[in-house]
Amino acid sequence: MKVINPATEELVAEVEPLDAEAVDAAVSRARRAAPRWQALSPGDRARLLRRFADVVDAANEELATLEVRNSGHPIGNARWEAGNVRDVLAYYSGAPERLIGQQIPVADGLDVTFHEPLGVVGAIVPWNFPMPIASWAFGPALAAGNAVVLKPAELTPLTALRLAELALEAGLPEDLFQVVPGKGSVVGQRLVEHPDVAKIVFTGSTEVGRSVMAGCAARVKPVTLELGGKSANVVFADADLEAAACAAPYGVFDNAGQDCCARSRILVERAVYDRFLELLRSAVAAVVVGDPTDEKTEMGPLISAQHRERVRSYVSEDAPVAFRGSAPDGAGFWYPPTIVTPSDPADPLLREEIFGPVVAVVPFDDEHDAIRIANDSDFGLSGSIWTRDVGRAIRVSRGIEAGNLSVNSNSSVRYWTPFGGFKMSGLGRELGPDAALAFTETKNVFISTVPTGKES
Ligand code: NAP
Ligand code: MG
Repeated sequence: MKVINPATEELVAEVEPLDAEAVDAAVSRARRAAPRWQALSPGDRARLLRRFADVVDAANEELATLEVRNSGHPIGNARWEAGNVRDVLAYYSGAPERLIGQQIPVADGLDVTFHEPLGVVGAIVPWNFPMPIASWAFGPALAAGNAVVLKPAELTPLTALRLAELALEAGLPEDLFQVVPGKGSVVGQRLVEHPDVAKIVFTGSTEVGRSVMAGCAARVKPVTLELGGKSANVVFADADLEAAACAAPYGVFDNAGQDCCARSRILVERAVYDRFLELLRSAVAAVVVGDPTDEKTEMGPLISAQHRERVRSYVSEDAPVAFRGSAPDGAGFWYPPTIVTPSDPADPLLREEIFGPVVAVVPFDDEHDAIRIANDSDFGLSGSIWTRDVGRAIRVSRGIEAGNLSVNSNSSVRYWTPFGGFKMSGLGRELGPDAALAFTETKNVFISTVPTGKES
């Protein structure tokens, strides 16, 4: 597998893809590592995870630089991403001593529950945020006492491979956390089918997610899915329009729009539609697109030539383009931030996840209409509401069918709050206080206190 720098089209590295036999070997090594990990005291597991967090912290610049070369993310973003891995590990290092069960009142005995680890967890992750998304799976899964086998995306394996080395450096047991690079249809598919992989955590497209879920169904294997989105940024006439317009480009063009939480539909109350569009144009014109190694860069290239073709195909010659920002020409998979104003609700620009820097702006009439349009989607991952009316903010937040909403803000990902989608955006939740529990089975044990010989 050739790893290409998307900002320069230069070869960064070559990685040998694994075959199904190599995956089987990794799973059996993981299966032997899991009981050794579980045999450590909760405090020792916690300490090793904290050490892993420290080692990742010390490697922040190295990891960030590697991600800039592999993924074309602006250096500031990449540093945040490596820092997110550190924070996720530090947060879930608190879990081993806190996987607290229940004691339930029963007659003639004692009843207690245990949160048992699953064994080997398979994680399949995409190319858009290689480090954070991987850690949202391996952090809580390891904390709950499991071994993890992680398949990175073909396009972006480098930081995942480095994180597995850092885990060993931190003193985590050999084979507890393994990274298996290769094709989704080979390595990913084998993890889904493998009888000794007890759970799959998948992030990626809805199409592949559906087939992963079907594969898991064949073995009644639990699965967490984080899939696509077409999230709405709803701007009411009473909002601070300048603030909403200034923030909007970053709510959709962050990571060049390759973000499942991208607010790729902006719904604007009709009375302020023209004014908002004018403010949005100047905000989009101000987005700094270019060399990701430059500290001032806000948006880099798309991940690949093929993906750029896909994004381009949505913005045809006769597309209703209201504004096009700038992007470098020459080498690199560049695409300028673009505003479109489709009028047909069936337009793919309003229905499909483009996963690039293209935002559709549409007017609405009133609160009821705003909720109706926001919910007119197969997806339901995130969204924003801009208004000064607190009652409306709460009503609309409750009305929109999505897992992660923000009011007068476009930020929806915090490692200590739950994250995931409604409808076809996914199944289950990652992050937040309960994530480790998603990597356990609940076991109930009844212990009789009836004196021997008197059992009924
Ligand atoms: P994808 O094909 O769903 O890939 C996600 C992961 O699944 C990758 O590691 C991929 O491996 C693997 N995979 C592919 N086929 C598989 C199979 N049959 N069984 C098991 N695993 C398999 O997503 P993509 O190609 O990276 O992106 C396509 C579109 O998905 C994007 O344009 C976007 O709309 C959406 N997407 C959403 C998110 C999100 O965060 N929700 C993230 C990425 C993409 P390979 O790398 O080998 O294909
Ligand atoms: Mg794919």
